[in-house]
Amino acid sequence: MKFLRYYYNNEISYGILKKDCENKITKIEGSPFIGFKESSEELDFKDVKVLTPCNFTKAVCVGLNYRDHAKEFNHPIPESPVLFIKPATTALGMYENILKPQMCKRLDYEAELAIVIKSKAHDIEEEDAHKYILGYTCANDVTARDLQPQKGQWTLAKSFDTFCPFGPFIETKIDPTNLKITSILNEKVMQESNTSNLIFNPFYLVSYISKVMTLNPGDIILTGTPSGVSHMKDLSTISIKIEGIGTLTNTVKY
Ligand code: MG
Repeated sequence: MKFLRYYYNNEISYGILKKDCENKITKIEGSPFIGFKESSEELDFKDVKVLTPCNFTKAVCVGLNYRDHAKEFNHPIPESPVLFIKPATTALGMYENILKPQMCKRLDYEAELAIVIKSKAHDIEEEDAHKYILGYTCANDVTARDLQPQKGQWTLAKSFDTFCPFGPFIETKIDPTNLKITSILNEKVMQESNTSNLIFNPFYLVSYISKVMTLNPGDIILTGTPSGVSHMKDLSTISIKIEGIGTLTNTVKY
């Protein structure tokens, strides 16, 4: 099932993409987090403003989680997940502009599978992790690469406003461990991999992170990016496409 959140008629609502016709939305009452029921209202996808599929209190990100990306940056394969956090002010919806900060000289995209947390998760085991996951969405871990040191904290380089585009859908019924993941920059495929290449899988990550910090409903976990990262120029269009989930598209503005 694919959920989306949208603005229509002065109202923010959740909806479900219709299975047989993916440009139609059925509005729901409630939300996928607290429970819902389908309404009789049907809308065209093109008529609504698509919002981020949820609001997060934190986006927990995993660095160097694909073997090929760690190699690309000459990092050894990590023995435990490398974590950093993006604040809520980085959140950006479908078709919104990624803004290059003035102090940044090289603005990179990173295609990532994001886990969406369904309910409060604290100190949980890997085998129980699936109960706390609502579903999966596409994300772009936008990075000011020139401001990211090889050793030391990454927060500055990863945390500018608009640096966490995610969405447009949360897919609830999918196996996250075998999905094709692609980034497309101005119609050219730049990254192409599969989530089967992840060093730490989504269930392990939810468990590991929940032992550090409580995960709240709507929090997201960005699971890392494969090799092929590069920079985006002014007015570039960047799309993150994940098999079975959808495509997240944004434009860059210098
Ligand atoms: Mg990343």
